[in-house]
Amino acid sequence: MPDIPFFNYPAIYKRYEAEFDAIFKDVCSRGAYILQRDLEEFETDLAGFLDVKHALGVADGTNAMFIGLKAHDIGPGDEVIVASHTYIATAAAVHLVGATPVFADIGEDYMMSAADAAKRVTPKTKAIMPTQLNGRCCNMDDIQALADAHDLLVFEDSAQGLGARFKGQCAGTFGRFGTLSFYPAKLMGCFGDGGAVMTNDDEVAEKLKLWRDHGRNDNGEVVAWGTNSRLDNLQAAFLKFRLGTYEEDVARRRQIAGMYEAAFRGHDKLYPPQGPSDGDHFDVYQNYEMAAEDRDRLRAALADQGIRTIIQWGGTPVHWFDKLGYGRDKVTDLPKTDWFFDRCLMLPMHMALTDDDVNAVIDAVLGHYK
Ligand SMILES: *Cc1c(COP(=O)(O)O)cnc(C)c1O
Repeated sequence: MPDIPFFNYPAIYKRYEAEFDAIFKDVCSRGAYILQRDLEEFETDLAGFLDVKHALGVADGTNAMFIGLKAHDIGPGDEVIVASHTYIATAAAVHLVGATPVFADIGEDYMMSAADAAKRVTPKTKAIMPTQLNGRCCNMDDIQALADAHDLLVFEDSAQGLGARFKGQCAGTFGRFGTLSFYPAKLMGCFGDGGAVMTNDDEVAEKLKLWRDHGRNDNGEVVAWGTNSRLDNLQAAFLKFRLGTYEEDVARRRQIAGMYEAAFRGHDKLYPPQGPSDGDHFDVYQNYEMAAEDRDRLRAALADQGIRTIIQWGGTPVHWFDKLGYGRDKVTDLPKTDWFFDRCLMLPMHMALTDDDVNAVIDAVLGHYK
C-alpha cells in the first residue's frame, strides 16, 4: 500500500541538508541574527525575482497584511472587500486594524470574482484585497477596473502566490502592497514562520520599514508607532538559498498539476482547478484544490489506501465561522463559495512526490468512482 503524506515536512530539510547546515554554521558563527546582510541580500533577490521595487522580510504573512493596511491608514469605519475562500488571516488582518472585512464570492476558477465584489462596494469601501490562492493570480485586469471605477486601493494577499503570474506580471506586485508567507508548507517554506511585503511605492516602503521595526528609522530613532515584525536573518539566509532553486520547484509543481489535469478533466464527478496552460495565467500550484462529488467518501477511500488529503481551512470558509459572528445560516449570499466548500479537496502536491505517487493518487481517485 502506498504511504503518501499530504505534505512531507522533514523533506524540506533533507533535500538540501548539507547546504542548510553550512548556512546555519555560517550565519550563527557570524552572530548575524536580526536585520543583517543575509536579509538584505534575500530582499534584493526576491525583489529581482518578482520584478518589484521593494520586498521586505517580515515576521509572517499575517503581519505583512497588518502592517500593509496600517501603512495605508485603513482603520475604523473602513470596509475592505476580501474573498471568503481564504485563510482566516486575510479577514483577521482587516479586523485587527479596526476595519470591517466584507466577503465576495468566487468565480469559475474558485478565485475572488470581481463581478461579485462589485456588488459589495459601499461608500465605506476603501480597498479590495483579493487572495492569490493555491498558486494562482486573480484576473487583475478585472480587479483593477473595479478599483478604478470606485476609487479603491488594491492590496494582495499573495501568501500562496510566489511566482504566479497574470499576463506575465507576478502576484503580489499589482497592488499598493502584496504579501508572501514562508510558512513551512507554503511554496517556499522556511524552518518556522516568515513572510514578506512588497510594494512599488517608495513612500509606502518607508512606512512599512518603520512598521516592522518599532517605528525606528535607519539611525535607530523612533519616528512613528511601529511593532516588531522582522524576518529572522537566519531564515532569510535559508530562503535566499531556496529562491536560487525555486524555478525547479515551480516546474515540478506544474508537471504534477498537468498529470492531475490530464486524468481528471472531463470527469463527470470532478471539477479540477484550471490546468497549467490557461491563457493569461501562469499557475504555480501551491495546492491542487479541486471540487468533487461525494467528497467525504472519496477522502475516506483515499485515506484507506494510504493517501492523505486535506480540506483547506479545515473545511470552513471565513463566512461560516459562527464564533466570529458569521455562520452558514446567517451569511447566505455566497452561494458559489458554499457549493465549493461542500465539495473541495486538496490532493498531495509537494516536491517529495514521485511520478509513481502521483499516478497512485490518480488511480485511487478514478477507482473510487468506478
Ligand atoms: C498562510 C496564509 C496566510 C498567513 O500566512 P502566515 O505566514 O501563516 O501568517 C494568509 N493568507 C493565506 C491565503 C495563506 O495561505
